[in-house]
Order: sequence, then structure tokens, then C-alpha cells
Amino acid sequence: MGKGVYTFGGNRNEGSASMRNLLGGKGCNLAEMAGLGIPVPPGFTLTTEQCGAYYTNGRQLAEELKAEVLAALKWLEGVRGCGFGATENPLLLSVRSGARVSMPGMMDTVLNLGLNDQTVQALERASGNPRFAWDSYRRFITMYSNVVLNVEHALFEAELERAKERLGKHQDTDLSAEDWKKLVSAFKEIVLEETGKAFPQEPMEQLWGAIRAVFESWNTARAITYRRLNRIPDDWGTGVNVQSMVFGNMGDDCGTGVAFTRDPATGERLFYGEYLINAQGEDVVAGIRTPQPITRSQAEGTGLKSLEEAMPDSFKELDATCQRLEQHFKDMQDIEFTIERGKLFLLQTRNGKRTAMAGIRIAIDLVDEGLIDSKTALKRIDADSLSQLLAPVFDPKEKDRLRKEGHLLTKGLNAGPGAATGRIALTAEQAEKMAPEGPVVLVRVETSPEDISGMVASQGILTARGGMTSHAAVVARGMGKPCVCGASAIQIDLTRGIVKVGDHELKGGQDWISIDGSTGEVFAGKLSAHPSEVNQVLVDGRLKVEDSELYQRFAKIMRWSHEAKRMKVRTNADTPHDAAVARAFGAEGIGLCRTEHMFFEGDRIIAVREMILASDTEGRKKALAKLLPMQREDFEGIFTAMNGLPVNIRLLDPPLHEFLPQDEAGQKEMAEVIGVDLGTVERRVAQLHEFNPMMGHRGCRLGITFPEIIRMQVRAIAEAALNVAAKGIKAVPEIMVPLIGTVRELAYTKTEMLDEIAQVNKERGTQFACPMGTMIEIPRAAITSDKIAAEAEFFSFGTNDLTQMGFGFSRDDAGTFLPEYVGKKILEDDPFQSLDQEGIGELVRISCEKGRSARPGIKLGVCGEHGGDPRSVVFFHKVGLDYVSCSPYRVPIATLAAAQAALEQ
Ligand code: PEP
Ligand code: MG
Repeated sequence: MGKGVYTFGGNRNEGSASMRNLLGGKGCNLAEMAGLGIPVPPGFTLTTEQCGAYYTNGRQLAEELKAEVLAALKWLEGVRGCGFGATENPLLLSVRSGARVSMPGMMDTVLNLGLNDQTVQALERASGNPRFAWDSYRRFITMYSNVVLNVEHALFEAELERAKERLGKHQDTDLSAEDWKKLVSAFKEIVLEETGKAFPQEPMEQLWGAIRAVFESWNTARAITYRRLNRIPDDWGTGVNVQSMVFGNMGDDCGTGVAFTRDPATGERLFYGEYLINAQGEDVVAGIRTPQPITRSQAEGTGLKSLEEAMPDSFKELDATCQRLEQHFKDMQDIEFTIERGKLFLLQTRNGKRTAMAGIRIAIDLVDEGLIDSKTALKRIDADSLSQLLAPVFDPKEKDRLRKEGHLLTKGLNAGPGAATGRIALTAEQAEKMAPEGPVVLVRVETSPEDISGMVASQGILTARGGMTSHAAVVARGMGKPCVCGASAIQIDLTRGIVKVGDHELKGGQDWISIDGSTGEVFAGKLSAHPSEVNQVLVDGRLKVEDSELYQRFAKIMRWSHEAKRMKVRTNADTPHDAAVARAFGAEGIGLCRTEHMFFEGDRIIAVREMILASDTEGRKKALAKLLPMQREDFEGIFTAMNGLPVNIRLLDPPLHEFLPQDEAGQKEMAEVIGVDLGTVERRVAQLHEFNPMMGHRGCRLGITFPEIIRMQVRAIAEAALNVAAKGIKAVPEIMVPLIGTVRELAYTKTEMLDEIAQVNKERGTQFACPMGTMIEIPRAAITSDKIAAEAEFFSFGTNDLTQMGFGFSRDDAGTFLPEYVGKKILEDDPFQSLDQEGIGELVRISCEKGRSARPGIKLGVCGEHGGDPRSVVFFHKVGLDYVSCSPYRVPIATLAAAQAALEQ
């Protein structure tokens, strides 16, 4: 273990911004500011390594570390010309956490450390301000007792409230020195009662206690949760910053506040912040007093006095310092400052957190201002956050109101971003029936392909079961519909037609419900939602490009991304509409057209069911003949929408029973429509029942047993391509076989396909041909990819199934245990959301390598949900895929992620 303590400020500045990993963000930036000559109260930082050492050392501070701290403290006393614990002119300290990346509010802080019954009197004399001294002491006792001794903060708060009532005073600032003095005694009583020990008077004991408490705060429940949500490794640890105090609470020529160099919500370039006169930092955030605005323009109309007016000189210096910091760090800064008797000190600076909208605006503005280049700008934007820009939104004020009124029902998985509000429909049919009357939200235990039309008719989808790749989630994201999945608190009683959540009972067909697919929140009642500006320009055409600055910025980021990336970005789309939307978002082709979704539309399902019920090949062919023109028309529409771009069409994949009604009413109706008896339908449904349908009679296995199905599909593709070509449209189809395990499956299927195409060509006197390839979704296929490549002109990784088959986790049921797996750190992430790079990713890598060895230049892509997950996209770039394919609304996200991957290398 190297040096454990680094000083900053004063005459010995040992750190710099480049030492972030060792000193933490706060520590390294304090040193950087001191190096720039910006006024920073001097102090020292215990390194983040020491946090790890504290834990391996049985949660004890090592003697070597203590010696380093004592030496640094001695230095600090010299710099400040005062003594820690001295009864004349005492040195007081702040002790604050600071990890590599900021974890706002997650860890602990102690201010005014070093005060005791003697030093408080010395402070009184040194400052000539008894009120300030006793106010500081009571603050210290409160904070220290809470953070280090685990005494509840509320006990002190209650005591303070009682005192104010007794004294008839309202504000903390109304209390006198005498009042605070009495409260200090009362507070010490509370500590004695709660801990059984007197409040520690020995300053060194206080310091060791505070340092230990900061290290301990690395592992509070909230810090652990924050790290999990933000993917911060547990072993990074926090630094501890011990800094000499400056005081914002010495009188009316003092103050403290926080500021942003740009608006964190919109990104607009304006200085923005809040401050309080005669206060310490915690008062600004605690909401005890209403903070005042920093600038005059911000104060306009509020009746509050800005810092600009109250302390013009300090304001000017603060403004100039902030501008300098922004220029220096080349990013929007979030700073903390204190003004002590008219003198400004900076206590912290960091790159400020911001919304997606602000993130894009700031990145572009910084490029325009010449501070960064467009590549740096792209690297700074969180690719996932683009979904916030595309999703419909609720009014946050309205949401707050519903929350306060107790209408937040529950929280599920935020499976499809965006806001949806509508009356509850409990079945797909009900949704379709209700939709003409007004917006509908479909609420189901889980959805099946049968529900598609109901999903189309709905504003959003809410399910009680299912994970992020459940049917509802995949389909909803594909449609760009808000979706909340796996909201297990919801009970659906179809017989009574109600939805129950706790004490709430909502009536289907009548009551309103609102879901926020970006957060997973579910509200009882109505909220107003509207489409995002980007969609209004690109999809509905309601807004003109020149009227939307947001869209113009979005388009610029997309243009830069297209210039920077290597991989192509395609889309998963099954309809001309989805294809057109994806193309508007910049998709460079279709990577997966799932033909089964076309089988559910309108009357087609009747023909599909006839085909399934047919007892022989002839019967099946008759039904398929009815489907052929419909399927051909679908492809014509898609080829037209994608004119000139590749369209990868996958042959039928799901097991046939998915197309049959499972309930008796549905089966009766089906029997009537098709003209067979109910028994026939029931028998066929029973016959098709499978215990493990995901591993059953599906994928290429269907085409091997019923070649006439795929012959119909291939004919539809060939004829559609030839038909649109006659109209001057360039169709670029690719035909893909699903769920191949061995090369012979592919070889067999190809023979059938080639024969059908030859027939079409013979009939029409044409020479149609197109690439044929396969999905890689089964581990066996991945590890025999050299053999498979002999027959396949391309591979597309179906990472949904590859994850399912590779892990042995059912895609539709894993939601019941995966959250616990992630919670218990057995898995870092849900592998259906973010590719398991070590295992499933290794299958992808091996497959690429073997595929290329047998067929150099083989085209490689991915069309599982991971194609739209930024971290997975980076992985796919590294293994050298030619393209990723994702749902239309994720195309911009994948585009930016592909650019970031290319820029990273
Ligand atoms: C996959 O398995 O990754 C895939 C894209 O196919 P599907 O989701 O339709 O099974
Ligand atoms: Mg699949």
C-alpha cells in the first residue's frame, strides 16, 4: 500500500484532476482547483485505497494511516495558523466522502468537527460572535451523533421545534446564542440517553470516528443500491476529505450555496443556483429555509433577493470562477461554495448530472463554443438516455400530485419507455372495442401473440407477470408503446372484471389507469401525456423541423454518430409502418422480419388455423394458398418502405399451438368459422400441447416437417420482390432460417427453398435469387459454426434464444427468480437485457471466428433484444459484427452506441 494521505491547498498541493481513481472525484478536483489558484480551504484526502484497506483490516484504521493523518493535520495547523482542539483559535474540520464517481447524497459528511465545551468558547472569542459559535456546536453535535453514533436525527429536530415553540420563534436564524447554548445541553442529554455515553469531547477521537463513519457509509443500503443501479463496482471505495472549515454562518455577510454553470434540466447556458445568507451547506438542501436564487434574472418575479443583488462582489467572483472551471474541465460544472465575511471559497466542483435533453444540448453547445470536438461530445451522451427523448411524457407536476394523493399503485419493470394513460381493458377484444371511444391501457396477467391487435389498439400495456424480454415487453418496445411488465402486486379478476392492487379496486372498461414505462410506475387515474417532439417531427409530421430545436439537436447527434460508427444499424420490423418509422430514425435495413406476427392480422388467422387443423398435406396446401397473396402483399409493402435497403425475412418460428385459441369460447368460435366440430378443434389443440414449447416443434423444425409452409413463404418473398421490381422499387431480401442446431437442418431447408424459387423463376421467366442464411440461437449451432457456414451466407445471432438455451433460463418465466439473482450478485445483470459477455458472448465470439474461418467475409449480425442495448452493442462491435438490429425506437440508441464503440477503440 502506497501513500495514504494527500494534502491540497495551502503550500503543499499533492494531487490533481488526473488522480481521480486514487483521490475520488471530490478530492482530486479540490486539488485541481487549488492548483489553479482558486480559493479552496486547505485540507487532505485519505485515498480510496484506504477504504478497501479499512475493510480488510477488520474495519479498523491502520496505525500507518493514523500516523499519516497526524502528520497532515500538523501541516494543516501550520498553514491555517491555528491548533486542532486548541483553546485559543481552534482549527475546525469538515470530513466528507468522495468516490471516483459522484454518488450524490449517498454517503456521509460531518461539519464543524473539533468543537467541544472548551473550543466552542475559544471560537466565541476568536470570532467575537457567540451566536455563531453555539450554532456551529449544535450543528456538530447533531451531525456527528447521527452519522457516527447512529442517533436519530429526528430526536434533535423535535427538540429544536419544541424550543422554538417555547420561545415563540419561527426561523433558526431567530435563535440567539443563549438559545443555542441551552439546546446544546439538551442535545448532549439526548446523546447520553440514546448511547449511554457522554458526547465525545476529545477532538482526535471525534476525527477517527468521523473517518471511520465515512468509510462505513460506503456500505449503507442506499449506497449499495445506488451502485447497483449505476453499475459502480463495490471495490472502488470512497476517499475521505478532511478540510479546514470556512463558515457561512458567521453573520449576514456570510452565506453558502450550490450552483450549476448551465441549466441541468434544459442545458441552457445560464448560471443557475441557490444560496442562503448566514447558513451552512446542509440548510440549503434540508429544506428548513427556502433557498434564494443566485442571479437577478432567476429571482425575477419571486420576490426573493438574489446573490447578485445581496453580495454583488462575491457574485461577480463566483460567476467568473465558475466560468473558469467550466472552461478548464470543458463540461458543465456543479459547484458548492461558501462566503465567509465577504470572502468566497469553493468547496467542490464536479461535472453536473443532467437530463437527457440537457445532456444533448450541452454537448452540442460545447462543440459550437470550441471547447470539445464532436467525437468527445458523442462519448459524453448516455446512449440509453435517448429513449427519454423519443418517449411520450407525463407532466411531472401532475405525477407529483397523484403521488401525494396516494394514487401511486405499484411499480413494475420499466419495459417500454413512455407515458400512457387510458381506461382499463382486461382483454385484447375489450381493448379493440373500447379504443374508438378513447384511450385504453391493456392490463393482462401476461400477453400472448393473440393479444397483438389489442396491444395495437392500446396506448400502453401493463402486465402482472413477465420480464424485460417477455412477449409484452418485446412487442411493446417494437411498437414504441409504453409498457410496464412484471407488476406482481397487481391481481386481475377476470370474472368480476376488476384489477386489484392493495386496497385499490379498479373496474375494467371503466376506470382510468396511467403507466410510466420509463420508471415502471403505475397510477390510478388520468394523467395527460403527449408524444415527444422528435416523434412529432419524424413520425406524425405534426411539427416542422425548423420549429423544433430539440429535433435539430437530435438530428445532429445522429449525423455525427453515422459518421463515426463502423457497424450498420438495422431494425426489427414486421410491418410497412414500423419499417418506415425505423427508416425515419436512420435504420439501414431490416435485420429481422418476424413473419409470424403477420399471421395474426385480420382474417388471416382463420386461414392459419385452417392450415393447422388440416389432416393432410393437401388440406394444408389449400389453406396456404389463401395465405400466399396476403403474405406477398405484406412483403411488397415492406420492400417498398425499405426501397434499396436489405430486408432480412425469417421463416415461421413459433410452435403452431400459439395460433390456436386455448379457451373454450375461442375454440367454439373457431370451429364455427372454419366449419368443423368442436371435438376436432379440441383434439388438435390437445395434440399440439407441448411441455416445453420453447424447445419443441418450432423454428426450422416446422419447415422440415411441413415444407409446404416455408415454400409458401419463400414464394411470397420471391413474387413480392419481382412485383415491386416491376414498379422500379429495389427489393433486397435475405431469407433466414430460425433455430438451426445442425448444418443438415439448414441444408434440407435450403433445398426446399431453392426448389420453390426455381419454380417461380420458371413460371415467370425470371432469375430471382437472394442470400440465404441462418439464425444462431442454439449453442450447438454456435460451436459448429464452421460447418454451418458452408451452407449459410450470413449468420444473425438470436441472442434471446441463445441466452435462453445457453443458460437454460426460460425467457418467459425467468422473471420469477432473475431479480433475486441480480440482487444476490449471482449475476451482474439480467442476461436477457444485457448480454452475458463471458458466457453467451463467448458463444457469439466462437461462432464468428468459426464462421469466418469457413467462409471469409460471411455477413454477421445480431437481432436479439441485445442489439438495442448499448453495452451489448459495444461488445458486438468488438467481435466484429457487421450490423446490429433492434426495435425501431431503439435505432437511435444503437446508432449512438455503435459510434461510441468505434470511438472507444
Ligand atoms: C432471438 O431469439 O434472439 C430472436 C431474435 O428471435 P425471437 O425473439 O423471435 O425468438
Ligand atoms: Mg429466437
